[in-house]
Amino acid sequence: MAILNKKKFYIKTFFATEDIIQEITKVSPEIIAIDAPLSLPKGRCCLEKECDCSIRGHFRDSDKKIREFGPVLPLTYLGMKMLTYRGVYIKERLKKCFSPSFQPKIIEVHPHTSQKILNIGEDKKTIYSNLSHFFALDKTANELSDHELDSIIAALTGLYFLFGKFKELGDVREGTIIVPVLELDFNTDMLFFKNINI
Ligand SMILES: [Zn+2]
Repeated sequence: MAILNKKKFYIKTFFATEDIIQEITKVSPEIIAIDAPLSLPKGRCCLEKECDCSIRGHFRDSDKKIREFGPVLPLTYLGMKMLTYRGVYIKERLKKCFSPSFQPKIIEVHPHTSQKILNIGEDKKTIYSNLSHFFALDKTANELSDHELDSIIAALTGLYFLFGKFKELGDVREGTIIVPVLELDFNTDMLFFKNINI
């Protein structure tokens, strides 16, 4: 988990679903950007191949659109299936954790695609170095796991979303994936963010 607050990333790792939910509730963020599918393909009640709903297929419209940037696994693939069920569960739980007057926006993101669009580098050291020009981070590059790095890029995508610099892939009735839209290049965009109070 990466919590972006006043231009600093606070990076944490949780394993239990309840710990994730508890921490998000405690932080009470404006945007929650999750790197996991948060919905099922239209017309599906589950992702089981034995179910009648399986004729509706393995992909959402958003999954097909994100495939233009690189390969993604079908939602029915074992690891993805678990991730999707967990993502959908966390989203539903989070909706109930906040009062109706303060509902954070929960968005689905795909950090690997964001990383390509933002062109902030391929490897951890390069990405870290590009980010550290604009943000403070409470971990060094060596301390960061690949998942934590993904969470930073997820949070960064949330920042693009917050400022309306994003594209929504897929069908809103089914569930979409948010990708950032570069204004000019990453450094110029970050200078814009740096000059406003976030
Ligand atoms: Zn089903």
